Amino acid sequence: MKSLRFIIFILLLLPYLQFSQVLNQKNVLLVWGGYEPHKPELFSNIVEEWLLSQNANVDIYNDLSPYDSYDKLISYDLIIQSVTMEKISSKQANNLSKAVKNGVGIAGAHGGLTDSFRENTEFQYIIGGQFVAHPGGQVDYKVIFKKDELTEGLNNFRIKTEQYYMHVDPNIDVIAETKFDGKFNPWIDGVVMPVAWKKKHGMGKVFYFAIGHDPMEFKQHIDAWKLLTRGFNWASRK
Ligand SMILES: [Zn+2]
Repeated sequence: MKSLRFIIFILLLLPYLQFSQVLNQKNVLLVWGGYEPHKPELFSNIVEEWLLSQNANVDIYNDLSPYDSYDKLISYDLIIQSVTMEKISSKQANNLSKAVKNGVGIAGAHGGLTDSFRENTEFQYIIGGQFVAHPGGQVDYKVIFKKDELTEGLNNFRIKTEQYYMHVDPNIDVIAETKFDGKFNPWIDGVVMPVAWKKKHGMGKVFYFAIGHDPMEFKQHIDAWKLLTRGFNWASRK
Protein backbone atom coordinates (compact mmCIF):
# COMPACT_ATOMS: atom_id res chain seq x y z
CA MET A 1 0.00 0.00 0.00
CA LYS A 2 2.82 2.33 0.91
CA SER A 3 4.58 1.72 -2.41
CA LEU A 4 1.33 2.33 -4.31
CA ARG A 5 0.99 5.68 -2.55
CA PHE A 6 4.56 6.47 -3.49
CA ILE A 7 3.95 5.61 -7.16
CA ILE A 8 0.83 7.83 -7.22
CA PHE A 9 2.83 10.63 -5.59
CA ILE A 10 5.56 10.35 -8.24
CA LEU A 11 2.98 10.25 -11.07
CA LEU A 12 1.35 13.42 -9.74
CA LEU A 13 4.74 15.08 -9.54
CA LEU A 14 5.89 14.03 -13.01
CA PRO A 15 4.55 16.97 -15.05
CA TYR A 16 6.34 19.36 -12.69
CA LEU A 17 9.55 17.36 -12.84
CA GLN A 18 9.50 17.40 -16.65
CA PHE A 19 8.78 21.13 -16.66
CA SER A 20 11.64 21.78 -14.26
CA GLN A 21 14.13 20.01 -16.52
CA VAL A 22 14.37 22.94 -18.94
CA LEU A 23 16.71 25.00 -16.76
CA ASN A 24 18.16 22.07 -14.83
CA GLN A 25 21.93 22.73 -14.44
CA LYS A 26 21.72 25.66 -16.88
CA ASN A 27 23.88 28.69 -16.11
CA VAL A 28 21.76 31.77 -15.55
CA LEU A 29 23.02 35.32 -15.05
CA LEU A 30 20.68 37.62 -13.14
CA VAL A 31 21.56 41.32 -13.40
CA TRP A 32 19.59 43.95 -11.51
CA GLY A 33 19.89 47.67 -10.80
CA GLY A 34 18.85 51.19 -11.76
CA TYR A 35 15.59 53.03 -11.09
CA GLU A 36 14.57 52.17 -7.50
CA PRO A 37 10.74 52.43 -7.87
CA HIS A 38 10.92 49.36 -10.14
CA LYS A 39 12.18 47.34 -7.14
CA PRO A 40 14.76 45.46 -9.23
CA GLU A 41 16.14 43.66 -6.16
CA LEU A 42 12.69 42.29 -5.33
CA PHE A 43 12.32 41.16 -8.96
CA SER A 44 15.71 39.49 -8.73
CA ASN A 45 14.78 37.76 -5.45
CA ILE A 46 11.49 36.43 -6.84
CA VAL A 47 13.19 35.14 -10.00
CA GLU A 48 16.15 33.71 -8.09
CA GLU A 49 13.85 31.67 -5.86
CA TRP A 50 12.16 30.22 -8.93
CA LEU A 51 15.45 29.56 -10.76
CA LEU A 52 16.79 27.64 -7.76
CA SER A 53 13.59 25.58 -7.67
CA GLN A 54 14.38 24.67 -11.31
CA ASN A 55 17.91 23.54 -10.33
CA ALA A 56 19.57 26.30 -12.37
CA ASN A 57 23.04 27.60 -11.48
CA VAL A 58 22.46 31.26 -10.70
CA ASP A 59 24.94 34.16 -10.63
CA ILE A 60 23.58 37.49 -9.42
CA TYR A 61 25.09 40.94 -9.96
CA ASN A 62 23.91 44.37 -8.88
CA ASP A 63 25.96 46.01 -11.64
CA LEU A 64 26.91 45.48 -15.28
CA SER A 65 30.42 44.14 -14.57
CA PRO A 66 29.71 40.71 -16.12
CA TYR A 67 29.09 42.52 -19.42
CA ASP A 68 32.76 43.59 -19.40
CA SER A 69 33.80 40.12 -20.53
CA TYR A 70 32.54 38.26 -23.60
CA ASP A 71 34.14 35.05 -22.29
CA LYS A 72 32.09 35.34 -19.12
CA LEU A 73 28.83 36.11 -20.95
CA ILE A 74 29.18 33.20 -23.37
CA SER A 75 29.43 30.81 -20.38
CA TYR A 76 25.74 31.47 -19.62
CA ASP A 77 22.66 29.88 -21.16
CA LEU A 78 20.34 32.69 -20.15
CA ILE A 79 20.67 36.30 -19.01
CA ILE A 80 17.78 37.81 -17.06
CA GLN A 81 18.14 41.56 -16.77
CA SER A 82 16.22 44.01 -14.58
CA VAL A 83 18.06 47.30 -15.04
CA THR A 84 16.16 50.55 -15.68
CA MET A 85 17.61 53.88 -16.87
CA GLU A 86 21.28 53.09 -16.51
CA LYS A 87 24.32 53.50 -18.74
CA ILE A 88 26.04 50.75 -20.70
CA SER A 89 29.43 51.19 -22.36
CA SER A 90 29.73 50.39 -26.05
CA LYS A 91 32.18 47.61 -25.15
CA GLN A 92 29.63 46.06 -22.76
CA ALA A 93 26.85 46.34 -25.35
CA ASN A 94 29.08 44.76 -28.01
CA ASN A 95 29.99 41.87 -25.69
CA LEU A 96 26.32 41.30 -24.90
CA SER A 97 25.30 41.47 -28.56
CA LYS A 98 28.02 39.00 -29.57
CA ALA A 99 27.12 36.58 -26.75
CA VAL A 100 23.41 36.64 -27.70
CA LYS A 101 24.25 36.26 -31.40
CA ASN A 102 26.23 33.16 -30.43
CA GLY A 103 23.32 31.57 -28.57
CA VAL A 104 22.94 33.05 -25.07
CA GLY A 105 19.28 33.88 -24.37
CA ILE A 106 18.16 37.16 -22.81
CA ALA A 107 14.86 37.86 -21.07
CA GLY A 108 13.18 40.33 -18.77
CA ALA A 109 10.18 42.48 -17.96
CA HIS A 110 8.98 46.08 -17.93
CA GLY A 111 11.64 48.83 -17.89
CA GLY A 112 14.24 46.29 -16.79
CA LEU A 113 14.70 45.28 -20.41
CA THR A 114 13.13 47.97 -22.62
CA ASP A 115 14.11 51.10 -20.72
CA SER A 116 17.56 50.03 -19.63
CA PHE A 117 19.95 52.14 -21.68
CA ARG A 118 18.19 54.93 -23.57
CA GLU A 119 21.37 56.01 -25.32
CA ASN A 120 22.42 52.62 -26.65
CA THR A 121 20.81 51.54 -29.92
CA GLU A 122 22.94 48.37 -30.13
CA PHE A 123 21.19 47.12 -26.97
CA GLN A 124 17.77 48.17 -28.29
CA TYR A 125 18.49 46.25 -31.50
CA ILE A 126 19.00 43.09 -29.42
CA ILE A 127 15.82 43.50 -27.38
CA GLY A 128 13.46 44.72 -30.11
CA GLY A 129 11.78 47.64 -28.39
CA GLN A 130 12.15 50.77 -26.31
CA PHE A 131 9.68 52.22 -23.79
CA VAL A 132 8.61 55.77 -24.63
CA ALA A 133 5.50 56.58 -22.52
CA HIS A 134 2.87 55.26 -20.12
CA PRO A 135 -0.11 57.60 -20.65
CA GLY A 136 -2.12 58.12 -17.45
CA GLY A 137 0.45 56.39 -15.23
CA GLN A 138 -1.22 53.47 -13.42
CA VAL A 139 -4.27 52.51 -15.49
CA ASP A 140 -6.61 49.56 -15.70
CA TYR A 141 -6.19 47.66 -18.96
CA LYS A 142 -6.55 44.25 -20.55
CA VAL A 143 -3.71 41.93 -21.51
CA ILE A 144 -4.77 39.82 -24.51
CA PHE A 145 -2.81 36.67 -25.28
CA LYS A 146 -2.20 35.65 -28.87
CA LYS A 147 -1.99 32.07 -30.07
CA ASP A 148 1.49 30.74 -29.35
CA GLU A 149 3.22 27.79 -27.70
CA LEU A 150 4.06 30.08 -24.74
CA THR A 151 0.47 31.28 -24.20
CA GLU A 152 -1.23 27.89 -24.40
CA GLY A 153 -3.98 27.59 -21.77
CA LEU A 154 -3.47 31.12 -20.45
CA ASN A 155 -6.44 33.46 -19.94
CA ASN A 156 -6.59 37.15 -20.85
CA PHE A 157 -6.60 39.28 -17.71
CA ARG A 158 -7.09 42.87 -16.54
CA ILE A 159 -4.40 44.62 -14.56
CA LYS A 160 -3.84 48.05 -13.00
CA THR A 161 -0.30 49.10 -13.79
CA GLU A 162 1.63 51.16 -16.32
CA GLN A 163 0.43 50.51 -19.86
CA TYR A 164 3.66 50.72 -21.81
CA TYR A 165 3.66 52.63 -25.09
CA MET A 166 6.69 51.40 -27.02
CA HIS A 167 8.69 51.80 -30.17
CA VAL A 168 9.09 48.27 -31.44
CA ASP A 169 11.14 46.36 -33.99
CA PRO A 170 8.96 45.03 -36.86
CA ASN A 171 10.91 41.79 -36.48
CA ILE A 172 9.40 40.82 -33.09
CA ASP A 173 6.92 37.97 -32.73
CA VAL A 174 4.10 39.43 -30.61
CA ILE A 175 2.51 36.94 -28.19
CA ALA A 176 0.42 39.32 -26.05
CA GLU A 177 -1.00 42.77 -26.73
CA THR A 178 -3.16 45.57 -25.32
CA LYS A 179 -5.28 48.36 -26.79
CA PHE A 180 -5.07 52.03 -25.76
CA ASP A 181 -8.40 53.80 -25.18
CA GLY A 182 -7.27 57.38 -25.80
CA LYS A 183 -8.55 58.60 -22.40
CA PHE A 184 -5.29 60.39 -21.61
CA ASN A 185 -3.88 60.89 -25.12
CA PRO A 186 -6.86 61.00 -27.54
CA TRP A 187 -4.64 60.65 -30.63
CA ILE A 188 -3.61 57.08 -29.64
CA ASP A 189 -7.20 55.83 -29.23
CA GLY A 190 -7.41 52.28 -30.57
CA VAL A 191 -3.67 51.72 -30.92
CA VAL A 192 -2.82 48.04 -30.42
CA MET A 193 0.50 47.63 -28.64
CA PRO A 194 2.65 44.57 -27.94
CA VAL A 195 2.77 43.54 -24.25
CA ALA A 196 4.95 40.46 -24.72
CA TRP A 197 7.13 39.25 -27.54
CA LYS A 198 9.82 36.84 -28.55
CA LYS A 199 12.49 37.25 -31.21
CA LYS A 200 15.91 36.09 -32.30
CA HIS A 201 19.18 37.99 -32.28
CA GLY A 202 21.54 35.80 -34.25
CA MET A 203 21.27 32.38 -32.63
CA GLY A 204 20.12 33.80 -29.29
CA LYS A 205 16.51 34.04 -28.20
CA VAL A 206 14.99 37.14 -26.66
CA PHE A 207 11.84 37.19 -24.50
CA TYR A 208 10.13 40.32 -23.16
CA PHE A 209 7.01 41.03 -21.07
CA ALA A 210 5.98 44.66 -20.47
CA ILE A 211 4.06 44.37 -17.19
CA GLY A 212 5.84 44.37 -13.84
CA HIS A 213 6.19 48.00 -12.74
CA ASP A 214 5.79 46.36 -9.34
CA PRO A 215 7.36 42.87 -9.44
CA MET A 216 4.52 41.64 -7.17
CA GLU A 217 2.25 41.82 -10.25
CA PHE A 218 3.80 38.51 -11.24
CA LYS A 219 2.74 37.01 -7.91
CA GLN A 220 -0.78 38.46 -8.14
CA HIS A 221 -1.53 37.39 -11.71
CA ILE A 222 -0.83 33.70 -12.11
CA ASP A 223 -1.05 33.71 -15.91
CA ALA A 224 1.46 36.58 -16.05
CA TRP A 225 3.85 34.54 -13.90
CA LYS A 226 3.31 31.49 -16.12
CA LEU A 227 4.12 33.47 -19.25
CA LEU A 228 7.19 35.03 -17.66
CA THR A 229 8.66 31.71 -16.54
CA ARG A 230 7.76 30.00 -19.81
CA GLY A 231 9.57 32.86 -21.54
CA PHE A 232 12.66 32.26 -19.40
CA ASN A 233 12.57 28.57 -20.30
CA TRP A 234 12.07 29.34 -24.00
CA ALA A 235 14.86 31.92 -24.21
CA SER A 236 17.46 29.71 -22.55
CA ARG A 237 20.04 28.12 -24.84
CA LYS A 238 19.04 24.51 -25.52
ZN1 LIG B 1 7.49 51.40 -14.37
